[in-house]
Amino acid sequence: MRAIIQADIVCDKARLFAKSAEQAAKTECDATIRDLSLRLAHSRIIELEEKLAQMSRLAHEDQLTGILNRRGCDSAFTRELSRCRRSNAPLSLAALDIDDFKRINDEYGHAAGDAALVHFTKIISANIRTSDIFARTGGEEFLIVLPDTRIEHAALTVARLQKAMSLARLQTGQTSLELTFSVGIARLQPCDTAEGLIERADFGTRTAKKNGKNCMVCT
Ligand code: GH3
Ligand code: MG
Ligand code: MG
Repeated sequence: MRAIIQADIVCDKARLFAKSAEQAAKTECDATIRDLSLRLAHSRIIELEEKLAQMSRLAHEDQLTGILNRRGCDSAFTRELSRCRRSNAPLSLAALDIDDFKRINDEYGHAAGDAALVHFTKIISANIRTSDIFARTGGEEFLIVLPDTRIEHAALTVARLQKAMSLARLQTGQTSLELTFSVGIARLQPCDTAEGLIERADFGTRTAKKNGKNCMVCT
């Protein structure tokens, strides 16, 4: 009788032990699942954030040349405009238009035109400050925002760009081409909006075209 009771006690203990071991395993398993789910959610969030940043970059970037497009220019320009206003610093804007670009497409083909746009972008990018904002705003039209720069210095910069462009000829098959461009430069005035400033620089570009191209006009 006593032996039977003792055996029952041992069985009960074994059952209790098995139950608590099972519960401990279940708790550990739940914690592992929670941890894995958290890690999965975290990596998914990082993945989505990277995708979002990439999409935003693409939306602000010109596909052909890799510089800012019109939209990218607008947001960077607005930011610099406010900063220069707040700190009472000068700001100049240059509107560039490649001369007779249609002729390059017509004579050498669209691919050569594309290569010319990439070449043009490289030369300009290599010869401006990293703080300047350079954007392709249309087919063969570009803007350079020069923060903290007086118009006289912007004109010197543009003259340097024109010189650099004339030296860096573009090789197209057997021919080497010289790209030239016309430029309008405008200075930020106290009551200017971004659009007003761009309009004045564009007016300068149109005047430069009328003046015979490959030159600049400060407005
Ligand atoms: P102007 O000196 O008066 O500026 O003359 P232009 O020939 O440069 O100007 P126009 O506006 O007559 O022609 C611009 C040309 O640029 C026409 C268009 O086909 C070409 N173009 C626009 N975007 C691209 C592009 O992404 N790639 C190529 N290859 N050509 C382009
Ligand atoms: Mg044009
Ligand atoms: Mg042109």
